Amino acid sequence: MRMKDMTHPFADTPVAPLSVNLLGILDRQHTALWVFDIDRCRVRWANATALQVWQAASVEALCARDMGQDMSEGVAQRLRQYQSDFISHDAVFQEQWTLYPNGLPVQLSVCFSGYRLPDGRMGMLCEGRPAHQATLESLRSVEALLHTPVMIALYDEASGAPLYRNPASRTAARSHTEHLFEHFVDSKACSRLLEGLDCGEPGMLSALVATSVGERWHEISARRCLDAATGQPAILVSEVDVSRVKESEARARFLAEHDPLTGLANRTQLMRQFAAMMTAADGANTAQIALVLIDLDHFKDVNDSFGHVAGDRILVEVAARLQRSIRPRDVLARLGGDEFLILCARDNLQAELARIHRNIRSVMSQPMVLDGNEIRMTATLGVSLHPDDGMDFETLFRNADLAMYAAKDSGRDALMFYQPHMRQALQERTRLETELRWALERHEFVPYYQPRVDVATGRVVGAEALVRWVHPTRGLLPPVEFIGVCEAMRFINALDQQMFEAVARQQAQWAAAGLDLQVSINLSGAELEDPQLLPELAGALARTGCDPSRLQVEITESMLLGGDARVLQTMQGIRDLGMTIALDDFGTGYSNLAYLQRFPIQILKIDRTFIQGLDKDLPVTELIVNLCHLMKLEVVAEGVETRDQLEWITRHGVAQYQGFLFSKALPADQFAALVKQASGG
Ligand code: C2E
Ligand code: MG
Ligand code: MG
Repeated sequence: MRMKDMTHPFADTPVAPLSVNLLGILDRQHTALWVFDIDRCRVRWANATALQVWQAASVEALCARDMGQDMSEGVAQRLRQYQSDFISHDAVFQEQWTLYPNGLPVQLSVCFSGYRLPDGRMGMLCEGRPAHQATLESLRSVEALLHTPVMIALYDEASGAPLYRNPASRTAARSHTEHLFEHFVDSKACSRLLEGLDCGEPGMLSALVATSVGERWHEISARRCLDAATGQPAILVSEVDVSRVKESEARARFLAEHDPLTGLANRTQLMRQFAAMMTAADGANTAQIALVLIDLDHFKDVNDSFGHVAGDRILVEVAARLQRSIRPRDVLARLGGDEFLILCARDNLQAELARIHRNIRSVMSQPMVLDGNEIRMTATLGVSLHPDDGMDFETLFRNADLAMYAAKDSGRDALMFYQPHMRQALQERTRLETELRWALERHEFVPYYQPRVDVATGRVVGAEALVRWVHPTRGLLPPVEFIGVCEAMRFINALDQQMFEAVARQQAQWAAAGLDLQVSINLSGAELEDPQLLPELAGALARTGCDPSRLQVEITESMLLGGDARVLQTMQGIRDLGMTIALDDFGTGYSNLAYLQRFPIQILKIDRTFIQGLDKDLPVTELIVNLCHLMKLEVVAEGVETRDQLEWITRHGVAQYQGFLFSKALPADQFAALVKQASGG
């Protein structure tokens, strides 16, 4: 080792004889002096008193100690803060410190100041004197002050300039010299705090303050005192960060009044806003209030086909679009599911509601994209008006609901105002529901059969079973009168399964009597989701002895939407039971030919609107027929009513047809008679 390395770490620069003497003098000082390298957490030089304090044998031994090893993160952070304060404004700190040289505490009163290390980085000169006269109590309180997360600062009362900050306050402050009033985001909060002090009481408030990490909520308490150093009036301020509490309070308040999915108002807030509108309307006796209940059309299909996560995405998008359709002072709420409600108060409500409806239709007409599929949603609206249709929220809501149902019945995508006769319609609906329950138990549903004719030979090759309700007082009712209600009541499955068994039994009877007919039966969408479906069908086949290859299940396109794995599985199960599957009403839905490849479908039934609109839809109908040929699907034309239509399908190679031209749906015995007669039997 070379000589100069043995002296001290500052030996990298030549030291003049006088300097050596100076170092000797420093060594004889009773003040412990050491230079600390904050970045490296090491002592770089120490005088003899400091070596005693640190209980080190030599400067080299002390310098070799890694002080970072048992330094808490809090102390390390505080030292980094000092370092930047030394750089920015030559700061000097006087603090009580407890050192633990050999695990035993040594109390020192230390003065810290900035010291440039030879390589230019900012280090720290520490001057430590024994903390004499300090009682244990005061030593501990000093420790507490240094380590507490509570931000404590003393300000000069006259100027608001800071006199002292504990480390927590120093870390939080944007600058060491920041005045009390500069600390507050809103200076009025500072004035409020100080006004409280004028009455001699300690002040306390929660306020938004500017800190080194941005704006935060602090709970602040302040009291007047005298500066111990100068005796001048001062203000002692202590602060606790309560931002997290504030945030969770705000979140809880928000959740109590908003729908968590869309962020719209929920029922609680809606009621509050309604009460406020009522009070305002009382003052201005011209204003009317409208409750506009909105229900999405066929939203259940989206949920069933794409799953609930996708359904939620659609709801969020719909919420945003509805919000764009109203004015800022109107209230939009989500009541749950796909039900929304708008509240608006105006002098001229009719015009405003027409405008809102136009807006809603226009924003909803833009397709929404879900997993690469374009979805178009429509909405049905029911409106009730205060004071005409009710004086309280409950009545108005019930009446808007009735109007909404009437609008759904009229074909959806519409707006209807409440009318008193709607209440009667509701009563009828309730009666219908009760009657339907009875009908199922008393087997009042019977299959009628519409012949399916081979185009080439003109012979009846099969039939479609169509349900009829033999109503005890109203006579024979077609499906349009009750299928929708059955679906809404969720007993379409029971009805379809009852029908399936009756049709299978009929087919087996005909087969036994020498009538070989392929009979198709309609299944509703809910069915394909029902895990009981396949066992039920298998049971019915076994009980009736029907040959499954002579049965065909008709499903509609909307049931395939989204390509749900469960639906595919059920369809495969139907195929495994030995039946074929026909896609009904093709062309009225999404007409997505990709489905035809993905699903096990053998027959395609072109909807009657295409056959009956042949003059205008010709190219589309032709395209569908040609594609079916290409994909080797059998085509059945539905609703053939005229000779011209029959001629057209004959020319285009359609295999089979149904329609009033040949026959409408008939009871089983009449159907059998017709078949026998047509085949010359
Ligand atoms: P769909 O399956 O498309 O049945 C064809 C409908 O068109 C039948 O109406 C039939 O009577 C009618 N139709 C047949 N030929 C012609 C024609 O030449 N011109 C006109 N204008 N119409 C014709 P229906 O019996 O009223 O049935 C209506 C719908 O109710 C059916 O449409 C089917 O979706 C549903 N449905 C019928 N029976 C059942 C059933 O047992 N279960 C389920 N879930 N749905 C059924
Ligand atoms: Mg059908
Ligand atoms: Mg059809």
